[in-house]
Amino acid sequence: MTSLDDLPIRDDLRGQHPYGAPMIPVRYALNVNENTHPIPEPVAREIIESLARAILTVNRYPDREFTELRENLAAYLGHGITPEQVWAANGSNEIIQQTLQAFGGPGRTVLGFPPTYSMHPIIAAGTGTSWLTAARDADYRISPETAVAAIEAQHPDLVFFCAPNNPTGTPLPLATIEAAYDATDGIVFVDEAYAEFMPHDAPSALTLLPGRERLLVSRTMSKAFAFAGARLGYLAADPAVADALRLVRLPYHLSALTQAASIAALHHAPEMLAMVDDIAAQRDRMLAVLPELGFRVFESQANFVLFDGLDDPAATFRALLERDILIRDVGIPGALRVTAGTAEETSFFLQSLAELGSGGAR
Ligand SMILES: *Cc1c(COP(=O)(O)O)cnc(C)c1O
Repeated sequence: MTSLDDLPIRDDLRGQHPYGAPMIPVRYALNVNENTHPIPEPVAREIIESLARAILTVNRYPDREFTELRENLAAYLGHGITPEQVWAANGSNEIIQQTLQAFGGPGRTVLGFPPTYSMHPIIAAGTGTSWLTAARDADYRISPETAVAAIEAQHPDLVFFCAPNNPTGTPLPLATIEAAYDATDGIVFVDEAYAEFMPHDAPSALTLLPGRERLLVSRTMSKAFAFAGARLGYLAADPAVADALRLVRLPYHLSALTQAASIAALHHAPEMLAMVDDIAAQRDRMLAVLPELGFRVFESQANFVLFDGLDDPAATFRALLERDILIRDVGIPGALRVTAGTAEETSFFLQSLAELGSGGAR
């Protein structure tokens, strides 16, 4: 038996840790911000029919330009976005990877604002891009001044924002994105994985795209669309950005089955998204109830809530797990993150936490 240390791995990967959210089978899986509602059965049937047609031609490579999928994604996004402005990959993680392959890489830097999405630094490491960080303001916000000061101090090649931010839920003002864009000649990447859970009147960074050819806005079908297992992420940007990503993507990276399933799901966007408002309501319920239980919550516009005031988050995590509830320890002292699920799941979580109290054990 050999170990990783014995292999001639790249020096810059030595000592790195892989993404490792625990995968534990539980009744209440509220740990990785999935949509806990299953796909409606009539929609599932249409997806299966679409897959059944696609399987008959898998002897051929799929459409390398995934044209029909891009048309459907553009129509779904609205905001006047054209298919040429859309690019897709196997999850937005691959979108991030391709972005860093094209615009980052050895000798280049990407600036992020922790605590933020844990995959951003991991994908930076995988692509040999140096990960730079800057502090957030109070309550995990990022003002335009804070973003500009960090960019002027560190001159990154790329700036990564997450809006709303994972793991805190914090919204990001468009003014911060605009100011950051004006302060850099590099790429500004806005990860909007949770955009559909924002209040209906909250503007998306998509509205900033016209005239900003270095702005990239990524989305995913994993969360709002209940499609985490199908792996489809995408971005909107200037068409030239897609040309840049064509240089690094693997040919035929989106399988015919992925394309077929995603197109069928997009044809039923309203049904697929029917649960989003319910989930947002459960999030708001947690934001209201957790303070009554003595915890502090942070404003969230995503499908999860970060709460703190725990004496021993690891003990609370374990005690909840004993009750078949899996949430997430994101490494923030005194805090845990929980995904908003169905009303029943949310009730069971809140009731269990109330019984445990801030000490985490009875
Ligand atoms: C969950 C999540 C993603 C989704 O990644 P996929 O590869 O599309 O499943 C992307 N960004 C953030 C911030 C996330 O929380």
